[in-house]
Amino acid sequence: MEKSFVKRGLTKKSENIADWYNDVVIQADLCDYTDVKGSMIIKPYAYSIWENIQKELDAMFKADNFQNCYFPMLIPMSLIKKEKEHVEGFAPELLTIDRIGEEQLADPLVLRPTSETIMYKAFANWVQGYRDLPIKINQWCNIFRAEKRTYPFLRTSEFLWQEGHTAFSNNEDNLQMVFKALNWYKDIYEKYLGISVYIGMKSQSEKFAGAKNTYSIEIVMPNGKALQASTSHDLSTNFSRAFDVTFLDEKGQKQYAHQSSFGLSTRSIAALILSHGDDSGLIVSPMIAPIQVVIIPIIKKNQENNLILDLANIIDKKLKLKGIKSWIDIDDAHSLGYKINEWELKGVPIRIEIGNDEVKDQKLKIVRRDNFEKQNINLDGFELKISELLKVIQNDLLAKSEKLKLAKTKDADNYKEFKKLIDDENFVRAYFCENKECEAKIKAETKATTRCLEFDQMNDDGVDGKCIYCGEKAKHKWLFGRSY
Ligand SMILES: [Zn+2]
Repeated sequence: MEKSFVKRGLTKKSENIADWYNDVVIQADLCDYTDVKGSMIIKPYAYSIWENIQKELDAMFKADNFQNCYFPMLIPMSLIKKEKEHVEGFAPELLTIDRIGEEQLADPLVLRPTSETIMYKAFANWVQGYRDLPIKINQWCNIFRAEKRTYPFLRTSEFLWQEGHTAFSNNEDNLQMVFKALNWYKDIYEKYLGISVYIGMKSQSEKFAGAKNTYSIEIVMPNGKALQASTSHDLSTNFSRAFDVTFLDEKGQKQYAHQSSFGLSTRSIAALILSHGDDSGLIVSPMIAPIQVVIIPIIKKNQENNLILDLANIIDKKLKLKGIKSWIDIDDAHSLGYKINEWELKGVPIRIEIGNDEVKDQKLKIVRRDNFEKQNINLDGFELKISELLKVIQNDLLAKSEKLKLAKTKDADNYKEFKKLIDDENFVRAYFCENKECEAKIKAETKATTRCLEFDQMNDDGVDGKCIYCGEKAKHKWLFGRSY
């Protein structure tokens, strides 16, 4: 284990995760602030991470016959108001334009907080008969939801996401879609980002405004806080009734379409930063890393550097031929220590150092970012070894994340124990009666909210427990945690 350099001004994650987070997003060059509170610039390195997530997720949608599209960002207020629960849920977060030039608008325009309303008004025109269904569309766009307390990537008033929207002729196909999307998100987090997740159903107070049910991906952060990482909503016929998305079935009867919507945002980058990062900075999972291998030629002013640079170029070319994203750091203005510092901050999974010794011995010195393990490997067949090592790192990150998730999840049998475990920064699994008043009191007293009812807790095994708060009959154990 090597901890060779103290990062300049980087707070230790283990000491203060909030300060560490604020330091790392700036120092690793992920974002910048602007004059507008709650807005941020996504810098190229973070945007590349987002592009890699987009690429994988987009392919999943396309393989299921989704088509991408684009709807306008401005939505008339009158349209937002059409679904009652929807507008009540979103009202405090809406950013509104009420005039153009000097002219006051009779119907103000809202910057989209999500696109159900504007899309489903169009769906009503698109759908006439059952042959027009299903509709499966996806949109990559920006979203506006005013936030008071903001953190880069975690919670900003403008963020990027994809929103999938569907309409089906029946409930069964619609529900299948809701869970299919949720599993795509689970794959993005577990297979690509290397983060172990919980999936389950949100409570009625925590569901999406206007949905029948919301299902979510929940992640336990190292400080025990919950990050809602993506959601999939069973909208049932709630919106199709409000927007008249109807069709004539095979018997010529008018029916309401069954709908679902689902989204994953740039919040996934916050999950990546918080889950894997350490006192030295970011750790990016190999499957999603913009740079998987950084090659540092150790060049010195008073020596012949050509052989070193030649070898570095050969290594770079061979890695690229193997489909590995490599990068040579040829900057000669900074010391080796400085460069190592920078690449550790950026969380590049593997570092290769090439100096005089490596040229002489025809070997490579490689260092893993996740555990600082060093090894010397022969030039012969090195691409395969690097490729294998990237897979090992990917698996190790997920295993470590799984371990943290399990260690941070505890069962409570009574309210006293529940409060203690929440205070000790855990996710807590406990019987809950599913009554809104109970949920509100638990939240007021402990700041913990229901995260979800896990699918494997959902099956009614006939054994009922007692609600942790009121003592009434409770069918299921729910997951609770303090939310980001
Ligand atoms: Zn209760």
